[in-house]
Amino acid sequence: MIKLESEDYIDHETYQQLRLDCEKNEKLLSSIGFEVMKTTSNLTLIQFYEKRFFSTKMAIIVDKEFNIFVSVHNKHLSENHLIFERTKTIYIFNDLVMFLKKFEKFVVCIGNSDIPYDMPQRNAYVEHDHGAVYSQTIRVNQCTLLTDRTNRCSYCSKFRGTLQRANRKRKPCEVSLTSNRPNSAMTKEYLIEKAKMLKKQCESVEGKNRRLRHEIDRKNKNNEMIEDTNWDISGLVHEESSTLQEVLPDPESFQRLFWEEQIKFNNLKDKRQIRRHPLIVKCEPQTS
Ligand SMILES: [Zn+2]
Repeated sequence: MIKLESEDYIDHETYQQLRLDCEKNEKLLSSIGFEVMKTTSNLTLIQFYEKRFFSTKMAIIVDKEFNIFVSVHNKHLSENHLIFERTKTIYIFNDLVMFLKKFEKFVVCIGNSDIPYDMPQRNAYVEHDHGAVYSQTIRVNQCTLLTDRTNRCSYCSKFRGTLQRANRKRKPCEVSLTSNRPNSAMTKEYLIEKAKMLKKQCESVEGKNRRLRHEIDRKNKNNEMIEDTNWDISGLVHEESSTLQEVLPDPESFQRLFWEEQIKFNNLKDKRQIRRHPLIVKCEPQTS
């Protein structure tokens, strides 16, 4: 149907009036849980989660053709949703208030937030944190998002049985610090277990460091670093001896002499029998 210019003008006036009424009645809208957005081109009202102000629970949009759209957790509600019954368009402020009051009878479907969400499911998706009491949940694709039932829409309730059966069948997932699985795909329980393992690992490394530091200090004090076959340098010398000739081809070099002396020393059962090369003796620190 072709619209007349004058009709366009009337529409524009009506729309501007609706916006103006919303801005004038901010307090009233706020008392029923909605804030008016002043910078959006379409009339937009937002409902935030109470405790986390910038977490958007839902947005109600009235476009310039007076059609209403509702999104919950950033997802559009189907146009067949119960909330749109008898209200598809809004022209005047009072009708808008009546429409907003309808939300008091609805809650956001909780989905299945208590079931591990790392299970691939064909007919469902994982919704991440939107500021609700749960940080993630599994919703079936047909989830109505807003429900007039206690806490879960009929589709998610029906799907819950399938999820619970799948959850019972799956093998318990072994917690590993070397797994390539991203943290975002892990359950809360898995993450807690992983954090505990990391804490334990850190404590163990810290303990080892403390013991090593103590051992090094003690050996430095007694000047026995080089004579300890358990010290890491022994292993290092042993491991590197095969590549010694390649790395240090000059048999006269001091480095080569040092390594050969160290290998000789390591192979001695009684370290007191060591006969140092004169050059090494010359370089040893003199104790007074
Ligand atoms: Zn649902």
